[in-house]
Amino acid sequence: MDLKSLIRDVYDFPKEGIVFKDITTVLQDPAGLRFAVDEFEKALKDVDFDLVVGPESRGFIFGVPLAYNMNKGFIPVRKEGKLPYKTKSKEYDLEYGSAVVEIHMDAIKPGDRVVVVDDLLATGGTSKAMVELIEEMGGIVVKMVYLIELSFLKGREVLQGQDVEAIIKY
Ligand code: IMP
Repeated sequence: MDLKSLIRDVYDFPKEGIVFKDITTVLQDPAGLRFAVDEFEKALKDVDFDLVVGPESRGFIFGVPLAYNMNKGFIPVRKEGKLPYKTKSKEYDLEYGSAVVEIHMDAIKPGDRVVVVDDLLATGGTSKAMVELIEEMGGIVVKMVYLIELSFLKGREVLQGQDVEAIIKY
């Protein structure tokens, strides 16, 4: 399937000069949604892992069906102040300013083998913050899988030492 043909480019979102890759047009297509989730599963078929970690909000969309299909648990990473229980936080830099991601402090046990899933790898900042959270809790990041990688933003360089796979690259 030509998944690229289902991804919509939105110009000047969320601000001028940015071309946003909109995956809602993949999700609303029954064959596209199935193909995308199946591709994540294929990327992980030979990987030994316990948990899927995905960030708010599009990491949830692919992470949960994947974890469900593969009989694993799912752990949400959220923006500051959204998780109800005690959290561990990580601040990371954005182009302008910074952001904070949080995870429940008891979500990952030492030795847990974790896969990180998201819709899109851009600069790698969000992903690096997730790796740091997981590793500080004693988890092991065994693979990171994305539907889309914007290669020109060099997110992989920020994730050196990680096994990174993208289903589609630009
Ligand atoms: P990074 O931290 O720069 O790698 O940005 C990745 C995060 O921003 C992911 O959680 C993405 O969902 C989101 N993101 C950045 N650019 C886009 C885009 O063009 N389309 C969809 N999501 C994006």
